[in-house]
Amino acid sequence: MDHSKLRVNGKRLQSTLEQMAKIGGTPGGGVQRLTLSDEDKQARDLFVKWLKEIDCEITIDEMGNIFGRRAGRNNALAPVMSGSHIDSQPKGGRFDGILGVMGALEVMRTLHENKVQTERPMVIVDWTNEEGSRFAPAMVGSGVWAGALKLDWVYDRKDIAGKRLEDELARIGYKGTAPCRNFPVHGYYEFHIEQGPMLERQKKLIGAPKGILCLHWYDIYLTGEANQVGPTPMEGRHDALVATAEMILKVRELPGRMGGNMVATVGEIQNYPNSRNIIPDRVHFTVDIRSWDDDLALRAWDLLHTDCEDIAARHGCPIKIEETWRVSHSPFDEKLVQRVLDAADELGYSNMPWVSGAGHDASYTNHVCPTAMIFVPSIGGRSHVEIENTRWEDCEAGCNVLLHCLLKAAMEK
Ligand SMILES: [Zn+2]
Repeated sequence: MDHSKLRVNGKRLQSTLEQMAKIGGTPGGGVQRLTLSDEDKQARDLFVKWLKEIDCEITIDEMGNIFGRRAGRNNALAPVMSGSHIDSQPKGGRFDGILGVMGALEVMRTLHENKVQTERPMVIVDWTNEEGSRFAPAMVGSGVWAGALKLDWVYDRKDIAGKRLEDELARIGYKGTAPCRNFPVHGYYEFHIEQGPMLERQKKLIGAPKGILCLHWYDIYLTGEANQVGPTPMEGRHDALVATAEMILKVRELPGRMGGNMVATVGEIQNYPNSRNIIPDRVHFTVDIRSWDDDLALRAWDLLHTDCEDIAARHGCPIKIEETWRVSHSPFDEKLVQRVLDAADELGYSNMPWVSGAGHDASYTNHVCPTAMIFVPSIGGRSHVEIENTRWEDCEAGCNVLLHCLLKAAMEK
């Protein structure tokens, strides 16, 4: 048959996503399916049942990553792979992650019912703990698989109740026996909501990120001098919070000064003693700088660093700065990215190249095999919230792009 005419079943994809959204569904219309919770187990069980219905061979590895393999004509060839994550943020949305897993499932169902035999095998994957909100850090399933994180270290991560990740994996019955390590993959495509507003603003349906922005984290600690707020005159104060306020504005100005697609954010702040009638004497806050250009991000940090020291000196507040974490920008495989754009063109969907500001499992698979992502618009650019939403027809369109990217890759000898 002419495979270019193949299309996924949008109604079936919608109903699949709606069934999944019931598991851990919140009154606000979102989903709370924390990793390795009872809800995660229930969703995994349903996913495995659906995989069995289309004759996939199922492997669960030591990290609880679930792989469903559909045989090809030549099973000695490296498979093409697609997937994402089933877990969610607390009070998260109905599309983040799950769209990429159910999208890949819809692709396999379409191939199954049309009796399409591909040259290469095809693998669908659910990566354990992408979100990192119950057990930090994030993306550990793909991280261990890619060899970037150590299994024993990840097993020892604890949630706020003190439960270990390994014990929770065993408790829900998903501590598999297959070794968690990468195998040759011909290409990995991850289908995901954009989680930002750019596709909507540019009125485009499909985004093909050329890669993931670099991520630089800093922690800044300031020491001031506490005193009763009433009797202490304004001049001569060493107010650590006022100094911090000036620094936060400097962070805010940074992307405008530097240009490019930089974003810079202060998202976390602790103020001590945090009392209305004591001048703050201790503040800790975080800085997150992301950019496609690692050097630009480092130059931005140099400027900010100098500004913060000047501000601290002016307020007489000693400052301590930690460079906490740096991940370089991660360009995806150019050929695979182009294939996403070409597939969208062939299907008549508007499209644009873009970058991803958020981390994804694709950042780790990118260490191992050619990788690309397919983005569809997030309504209002909102994500990690209960009102996260994407139009059903956009889910269907993105899934058709995934189908044709996977099909092309799986037919390559
Ligand atoms: Zn996600």
